[in-house]
Amino acid sequence: MKVYLDNSATTAMAREVVEAMLPYFTDEFGNAQSVHSFGQRAKSAVEKARRQVAGLINAAPGEVVFLSGGTEADNLAVRGIAEAHGDHGRHIITTRIEHPAVLATCEALEGAGYRVTYLPASRNGIVDIADVRNALGDDTILISVMLANNETGTIQPIEEIAAVVAEARTGGIEHLHFHTDAVQAVGKTAVDVKRLGVDLLSLSSHKIHGPKGAGALYVRKGTRLAKILYGGHHERDRRAGTENVPGIVGLGAAAELARVNLDKRVNLMRELRDYLEREVISRFSGVRINGDVEHRVSNISNISFDAIDGESLLIALDLKGVAVSTGSACASGSLEPSHVLQALGLSRDEVRGSLRFSLSAFTTRDEIDYAVSVLAETITRLREMLPGGETDVVEAGSVAKS
Ligand code: PLP
Repeated sequence: MKVYLDNSATTAMAREVVEAMLPYFTDEFGNAQSVHSFGQRAKSAVEKARRQVAGLINAAPGEVVFLSGGTEADNLAVRGIAEAHGDHGRHIITTRIEHPAVLATCEALEGAGYRVTYLPASRNGIVDIADVRNALGDDTILISVMLANNETGTIQPIEEIAAVVAEARTGGIEHLHFHTDAVQAVGKTAVDVKRLGVDLLSLSSHKIHGPKGAGALYVRKGTRLAKILYGGHHERDRRAGTENVPGIVGLGAAAELARVNLDKRVNLMRELRDYLEREVISRFSGVRINGDVEHRVSNISNISFDAIDGESLLIALDLKGVAVSTGSACASGSLEPSHVLQALGLSRDEVRGSLRFSLSAFTTRDEIDYAVSVLAETITRLREMLPGGETDVVEAGSVAKS
């Protein structure tokens, strides 16, 4: 049996999405900028997708910019605000637990003379509103805080931060903008840009059963944003480059499916994720759920296993057909310990012993049962190999929730 529990890395495409895309690889191959009928049909498909994405996040279609994925959306949001508003201030606030697409962009801006405050997160992985307030200065132009973390699934208090932003603007910090990276939240929880109160929001197609290489940035109407790509006047001058029509159509179809099926999918994923955790907790001692168990998306479980090397566990599970991931990001070929789990204050061993299980709308109970049985067998074997070598099975309820 093959069980894929790494859906935070990427998801399988939905059949409906593939079917929606197919004509745009063949008969409907027009360039959406062309005046003739081929171009106009491509353009109308792009505009339909724009409405579909807007519908998923309660934006106006004109506020949706199509681009190549979450990474580009984050780059455009952070760099675009920094460069458009750099004359009014050069301070950015973000967190230590952001995705590298935000962190590395901020680091690059530091090299260009911007000042960046990296806020800490609590042991539960949540940013403190007081820290946001304290970090604000007259020169702050951007706050970028992710909606859901990609390693723990923890949801940040975005609406509360938006209230701080509104207060600060009234208080005279006029050029302050608020961006959230919602790549891991969209399709896993309700995402409404108006309710969240953000100016910019990143999302990615391949995390919601759409194709890779497509994504969108929500840019609230009236927001001034510098370009990061120079060329034609595509996407209302926000993003140069011939539109990836099949990719955009796929993102639109995936967004539509996510919107229509949101409640059903969220309940299914949460039920199976909680079942997985109950099974793990009841079978082993020395396991901890990382992140906040209340405030998190429906599909992620990040678990630390005492006396286990996560990499060895991952490989052993893979040999039995179960795909999960460690907290580590595989950066430039070298495995680095997770910056997120370290920021939460986990010890080296806890970070080393952590695995991320991430489910999708397609995950089944049989798959979870298989994964749990393989996990049980593997953990028992790995712990037996330890010096002193006794197994650690059972002792229900000995989980510490951090
Ligand atoms: N932001 C978060 C939170 C992510 O999890 C990811 C992908 O893992 C990205 C951004 C980057 O998205 P993409 O893979 O579409 O470039």
